[in-house]
Amino acid sequence: MKRIVILGAGESGAGAAVLAKKEGFDVFVSDMSAIKDKYKKLLDDHGVEWEEGHHTEEKILNADEIIKSPGIPKEAPMIRKCMEKNIHIISEIEFAGRYTHSKMVCITGSNGKTTTTSLIYHIFKNAGYDAGLAGNIGKSLALQVAEEPHEYYIIELSSFQLDDMYDFRANIAILLNITPDHLDRYDFCMQNYVDAKMRILQNQTQEDSFIYWNDDPVIKKELDKYDIKAVKCPFSELKEKGSIGYIEEGQYKIEYPTPFNMEQEELSLTGKHNIYNSLAAGIASNIAGIKKEEIRKSLSDFPGVEHRLEKVATVGGVLYVNDSKATNVDACWYALESMKTPTILIIGGKDKGNDYNEIKDLVKKKCAGIVYLGADNKKLHDFFDGMGIPVADTHCMKDCVEACEKMAKPGYTVLLSPCCASFDLFKNMEDRGEQFKTLVRNL
Ligand code: ADP
Repeated sequence: MKRIVILGAGESGAGAAVLAKKEGFDVFVSDMSAIKDKYKKLLDDHGVEWEEGHHTEEKILNADEIIKSPGIPKEAPMIRKCMEKNIHIISEIEFAGRYTHSKMVCITGSNGKTTTTSLIYHIFKNAGYDAGLAGNIGKSLALQVAEEPHEYYIIELSSFQLDDMYDFRANIAILLNITPDHLDRYDFCMQNYVDAKMRILQNQTQEDSFIYWNDDPVIKKELDKYDIKAVKCPFSELKEKGSIGYIEEGQYKIEYPTPFNMEQEELSLTGKHNIYNSLAAGIASNIAGIKKEEIRKSLSDFPGVEHRLEKVATVGGVLYVNDSKATNVDACWYALESMKTPTILIIGGKDKGNDYNEIKDLVKKKCAGIVYLGADNKKLHDFFDGMGIPVADTHCMKDCVEACEKMAKPGYTVLLSPCCASFDLFKNMEDRGEQFKTLVRNL
């Protein structure tokens, strides 16, 4: 019997264990940290052996194959040891893909993955398609393949998942954009990160589709390097050569495979970045054969995703917007770009090597104030203080919201779009967004 060892028992690892057990493997799960109770129960219910708080080498290095959680870096000592022993390491998505013939709609990019994935799922479900939501969005593909198979899977893929994928084939692949992110996990080499993203193309055939943003300079450069077999479906903000999806004279248009259009104003998601996300989602749904009226309806009634340009409340004439998910500069750029009134920007947190020059012009154009929110705000002071815009220095959400309230005048927008990860002051970006929303609602 082949032995599969799973490193990391979160959503993906626990799901992979259930599928591996079902497929008759000798399965062992090991996690360096504590395993959540719900996953322990899942493993126990399926008779899977597990350990937490440490890795027992003898029980791991005898594996025929390792399934690695996307959260574990390749530099982790145990991964190094597995690589030294030439044990094949794969991701949960790769593993699950071996045991299903369902159609895979896969979404990757530096920004917009969760929004686009959720929007496509919304369209598929509303159209009555049998679809499962999976991947980086927080639902295990393997568990669904094992226990509640679907005809379609709508899968959000991070670069870390793509890193450990080899034979998996995306029937419909979407590449939204590539901008620097997570470089700490790619030896600070942008090309390594780009290569990971481009893996979404591998194994695609003539029967498949590749949807991508036509104006992304990084994608453009990469495309020449690949022999792309899939049908290419580029989209752009405005009509241009080659694009099959775009906005023209206030109309959202898709040319292929079934011509489709609707009023841009009817799209429920606002902001330039969401035009891209809505185009990618519409093209994917069109390719999957969903009827025009279904796509139109779902693009206009999608409620949006929490912590992404989420309108919280209007207090004293000031609109508060939670974009806590903006953990890099590019995401903040798009948030600022979509602001319609003078904006108080909340920025700061755990900086991943940000270059704030990218948002400098927009900050000058849109911001009436900046509130720093981080354990260490020095880099922000150094960059933004001299710009002639009022600033405030805060180290907790309570002080931050109070500072915003003081700075904002009726008609202003307060935008939490921090450019940074949240771990210096918060558990995660959700915690940061929740604290913001609670304090705003109590103003
Ligand atoms: P991801 O899952 O890739 O992190 P999300 O949909 O969660 O993407 O959005 C993350 C952040 O990026 C949000 O702050 C959002 O406003 C911004 N964003 C969403 N779509 C795009 C896009 N197509 N291009 C640039 N930024 C985007």
